[in-house]
Amino acid sequence: MELSTPVENIKTIGSVYAKRLKKLGIKEAKDLLFHFPSRYEDYSKISPIGELKKDDVVTVRGKIMHVSERRVYRKNLRIVEAYIEDRTDSLRVVWFNQSYIKSYLNNSSHMLLAGTVSLGKEGLYMSNPTYETERTDRAPVHAGRVVPIYPATRGITSRWLRNAIYQLLPHAENVQDPMPKHLISDKKFPPIKNALQQIHFPGNQKQAEEARRRFEFEEIFYIQLAALRAKADMQREISPKIKSDIKLTKKFLNSLPFKLTDSQKKSSWQILKDLEKPNPMNRLLEGDVGSGKTIVAAIAALNTIKTGFQTAYMAPTEILAEQHFLNLRKIFGEFNPNISIALYTRGNRRYFLKGKEEDLSKEKIKKHISDGKIDFIIGTHTLAQDGVKFKKLGLIVVDEQHRFGVKQRAALAKKEGRTGKKELIPNFLSMTATPIPRSLALTIYGDLDISLLKEMPGGRKKVITKIVPPQKRTAAYEFIKDELKKGRQAFVVVPLIEYSEKLEAKSAKEEYEKLSKGPFSDYAVGLLHGKMKAEEKERIMRDVKENKIQVLVSTSVVEVGIDIPNATIMMVEGADRFGLAQLHQFRGRVGRDKHQSYCFLLTDSNSQNTLHRVRALTKAQNGFDLAEYDLSIRGAGELYGARQSGMPDFAMASLTNVALIEEARESAHALLEKDPKLKKWPELKERVEQIQNKMHFE
Ligand code: ADP
Ligand code: MG
Repeated sequence: MELSTPVENIKTIGSVYAKRLKKLGIKEAKDLLFHFPSRYEDYSKISPIGELKKDDVVTVRGKIMHVSERRVYRKNLRIVEAYIEDRTDSLRVVWFNQSYIKSYLNNSSHMLLAGTVSLGKEGLYMSNPTYETERTDRAPVHAGRVVPIYPATRGITSRWLRNAIYQLLPHAENVQDPMPKHLISDKKFPPIKNALQQIHFPGNQKQAEEARRRFEFEEIFYIQLAALRAKADMQREISPKIKSDIKLTKKFLNSLPFKLTDSQKKSSWQILKDLEKPNPMNRLLEGDVGSGKTIVAAIAALNTIKTGFQTAYMAPTEILAEQHFLNLRKIFGEFNPNISIALYTRGNRRYFLKGKEEDLSKEKIKKHISDGKIDFIIGTHTLAQDGVKFKKLGLIVVDEQHRFGVKQRAALAKKEGRTGKKELIPNFLSMTATPIPRSLALTIYGDLDISLLKEMPGGRKKVITKIVPPQKRTAAYEFIKDELKKGRQAFVVVPLIEYSEKLEAKSAKEEYEKLSKGPFSDYAVGLLHGKMKAEEKERIMRDVKENKIQVLVSTSVVEVGIDIPNATIMMVEGADRFGLAQLHQFRGRVGRDKHQSYCFLLTDSNSQNTLHRVRALTKAQNGFDLAEYDLSIRGAGELYGARQSGMPDFAMASLTNVALIEEARESAHALLEKDPKLKKWPELKERVEQIQNKMHFE
């Protein structure tokens, strides 16, 4: 047998199990060796039966006697009972609903049984112990040692895996170690052969931890190599060079009604520095809702346009694209009327120059873009799918989409933009309001440079956040009415219904009916949901902006970007159904002006875990703190697209360990410095390339 032997060709496995293994991605003998336990039971203590005490976790060793089976019809139970006897005493053992054990016990006399000792009316006993016949030709694998427990899977038990993997372990000898030798010795890791032995069948818990430490480091190390190589690859591409015009930028900033925050200044500076370089920028601008990302992007766009290149700005929704268009049209239009700005969405195509706006056909506007007549085009992510070609695209700004590969960028840039051999790859700025925990920023986004907007502009007050139990609902409505009387506005968000925009729209309509006829009958109540037409949504948002609507009932579409400074109430129904990051986004919709604002989180849930989670929001105001907290309680798998990122499960478990990630990044960096192409490490190179593909680092 070879490490590359398909599992179905391994005699003791066979086709039925081979199929089940394939579901776990296990195809070859080697894959099985790399299928690791999730935990261990320590059954290494072998105790004489006469010395057993209640709650001991032990292995006993002896002769099986008096095997019997009975049925308890009332409880629908089948109980196998037996006694195990050594020189010191005997112990009663029972198994529930595992009749097959009876024949196993009858056939063997000397066995090992492992489990927890309980105390019943008839004295000490063990229930459902693991069992293994004593053999002279090999060490036990299910008892009498630290026993590996594998992640639960249908049709494959830990017991089966232990047998299968144990017989493969001698082949660990032939596994090539992809890790550089100097790292193994620097970090005091066990060599691969020992590490495989130790992770499956450790001599003690410490050995298991040693092996785990190595494999965790290894996975993260590969990801870091993949990210850093992707970064280096990007640096080999060429991009439009954007000159920073400091005088112009200052003049532009003076035309604004506010001063930049320190982080806005710092981020803008980092971006302008990147843009000046001959290689494409690949930067993520991260900042809470309302931290002022748009103006930072505008500064980058201004310099891009001044240098003679175009800027494309893509928003996640049509409403947001339109809002950005209106906002940027105003800022740029007032500053320099010769800058041409356009909006390009499915429902809307508008062109603005010298204070005048025109509606244009799709063809016309595409032509303007490819002729270079439009300096700044604002649209949705579909801009990239509509076959739009830019004459001289210098900068792509994308909201809430974190990666945009070389090919995607090249597709937007027209071929005429070539400079002889190599195509010019536009600079890329991604903006996100999702606070990304540091560990994720360093792994899944490890190929991007990151700028942070840490503070909120202009002395904003903390949003007072409260969990409202069902019995306080009426009081909450009264409170909101008082705010409305003062001229303020409110948002009511209906519960999230996963995978069904339609049902969500329905529940929003019902809530709208209820509130407009009930508590808020004296006020103008509006409705907004994802199933509405773009024009309808726009009309509603305009009415909210002009305070013609005081209470807006909405599905989660209100989440991103909408700017209504007069709104002071955010009421979220079914708050427990949303993730903390999303709730935090909702909360960011209010508190955008001088008025004190409030966020009410309604939940019927009595689950302590749920309340605990939602309560974190009442304490933390800062998105980064919340993100770290969310990560620590829910794990990275469900969050922030870590699972979708293609990251291996084993590495995912390390995502709460920033120190490990930094250590691995440092090692990866040092290695690439010596050998950027990994020529000396073909095994390693292969692994890294696999990960690079899987995680879409490009
Ligand atoms: P986000 O980061 O959520 O995209 P925006 O760019 O929409 O935030 O900015 C939110 C609001 O804050 C806008 O009305 C914007 O004009 C305003 N703003 C941005 N920067 C500042 C600042 N430094 N001082 C005061 N207001 C600012
Ligand atoms: Mg924004």
